[in-house]
Amino acid sequence: MATYRLGVVGAGTMGAGIALVCARKGHHVSLLDANQTALEKAMSYIQSVLLRDEEKGKISGQQKEAIFQSIHPVQEIGQLAECDIVIEAVSERLDLKKSIFRSLTEICRTDALLLTNTSSLSITEIAGGLPHPERILGLHFFNPAPVMPLVEVIRGKKSGEKEIECVYQFAKDLGKVPVLANDTPGFIVNRVARPFYNEALRILGDRVASVEQIDQIMKLAGGFKMGPFELQDLIGIDVNFAVTESVYSSFFHEGRFRPSRLQQRMVQAGTIGRKSGEGYYDYNN
Ligand code: NAD
Repeated sequence: MATYRLGVVGAGTMGAGIALVCARKGHHVSLLDANQTALEKAMSYIQSVLLRDEEKGKISGQQKEAIFQSIHPVQEIGQLAECDIVIEAVSERLDLKKSIFRSLTEICRTDALLLTNTSSLSITEIAGGLPHPERILGLHFFNPAPVMPLVEVIRGKKSGEKEIECVYQFAKDLGKVPVLANDTPGFIVNRVARPFYNEALRILGDRVASVEQIDQIMKLAGGFKMGPFELQDLIGIDVNFAVTESVYSSFFHEGRFRPSRLQQRMVQAGTIGRKSGEGYYDYNN
């Protein structure tokens, strides 16, 4: 298995998890965030997961140290110039992702693979107008990245076949189960999942049932591990809302994807789930 110099841009919920997944497989990771506090939080999350692994006897103390030491927090994008693969996991905003990819194409080698963990935005649009678009692809992990086996490998209009194969193999070597998807709004999983969240929000808005009831019903009757509100709290309600907005607009405002005002109000209030201590449920205790 090849080992790479990897860059992960964005050290939030997903970036921290992706950095850990890669470091566990022996890759050398530079983890970048514009926000120092986010970087510190990510490193302490990674340390706590590794400590738990050691306590459970999954890894030795030496392995824990080696994995932790292979992740380097950085704040300047120029520090990713030597990377073979960069995985972008910043907030779900097209303008932000486009500007990051522009910078990456300016500093990285022309054969470095530039991947986005976007949940819903167009790979083709992120790569649009950039040099060597053949090496720009989607690699979409699921939350929590160290646990969830599935990843979507997303082919943009100009992604190269050789590059797709290489990313597919890279994902397999990470121990993941890659699924190839074409570049359509929300790809496979987030398109299928929209009604799961949206209909639950409509049921709540119509006062048919409470958050707790809906979650319980979906677990008992639907066999889901988590209900739609528990899952939004885990994902981040802001991230979930941004994905729904993007899918809705990319499908030219088809009514079935219309975002929920109730969910929008949660974002406006800053009660965006576990990461803020409060979402549909209270996590302060
Ligand atoms: P998050 O809000 O937890 O983290 C985003 C991070 O990006 C923050 O730490 C922020 O400081 C950083 N950032 C913002 N602008 C930056 C910049 N210019 N340079 C460097 N860092 C910058 O978000 P997240 O939940 O980790 O989501 C990240 C991406 O992963 C999004 O595209 C999202 O759609 C996707 N995704 C999220 C989930 C999920 O369940 N949360 C699952 C799969 C994919």
